[in-house]
Amino acid sequence: MELRFRNLIFKIAQGDITRFRSEAIVNAANKYLEHGGGVAYAIARAAAGNVREYIRISKEAMREQIGRDWIEHGEVVVTPALRLEQYGIKYVIHTVGPYCGGRWDEDKKEKLKKAILGALRKADELKVRSIAFPAISAGIYGCPLEEVVRTFLETVEKFSGEADNVREVYLVLYSSEDYERALKVLEVEG
Ligand code: ADP
Repeated sequence: MELRFRNLIFKIAQGDITRFRSEAIVNAANKYLEHGGGVAYAIARAAAGNVREYIRISKEAMREQIGRDWIEHGEVVVTPALRLEQYGIKYVIHTVGPYCGGRWDEDKKEKLKKAILGALRKADELKVRSIAFPAISAGIYGCPLEEVVRTFLETVEKFSGEADNVREVYLVLYSSEDYERALKVLEVEG
C-alpha cells in the first residue's frame, strides 16, 4: 500500500526494520540513547552485536553532534550502520518520540511530528534516497497506533514540499496485526 505526495512515495510495510533494505533506518530511541528495549534494543544488537557497545557509540555521537547527553524531540543523532550494511543500510538516525501512556493530545502530536520531521530532514541532508521508520512511540511509550500512523501521513506530506533527495519513506510495522491496523488508516485517510 502506498501513497504519493509530490515526488515522494510513502509506503506501509511489514517486517523487521533491522533487515529492511533502505539507505537509512530510524530508531525510536529514548532521550539518552540507552537502547534498553523494543526496537532500539533490536537495532543495537543487530548493528553492533553488542548492545552496550552500540550505546557507547551512540552517546559519543550525541556528544559530538548535539553537544549534550540527551536529545529533545526533533533533535536526531546519526550512527553508522555497522553490521546492517549487509542490507544496504548506511545510517541509523536516532530520534525521540513522545511518551503517551495511552493518552493522546495535540502536545503529543506536535512532539511526534518534530521527531519524524527531524529524521526526514537529516536523511535529506545525508543525501539518502530511502528511509524506513518504526512506529515511533506506539510501543513501550504507549501512543495509539492509529494516531501515530495519521501523524506520519501528515508529516510526510508536509516534508514532501522540501525534500531534495529522499524519494521513498517506509513505515515498517513489526506485527501483522499492527500492519493491518496501519493499512486501514491509510485506506480511510489516503
Ligand atoms: P517506543 O518506546 O517509541 O514506543 P518501541 O521500541 O517500544 O518504541 O516500539 C515502537 C514500535 O516498534 C512498536 O510498534 C514495536 O512493535 C515496533 N518494533 C519492535 N521491534 C521492531 C523491529 N525489529 N522492527 C520494526 N518494528 C519493531
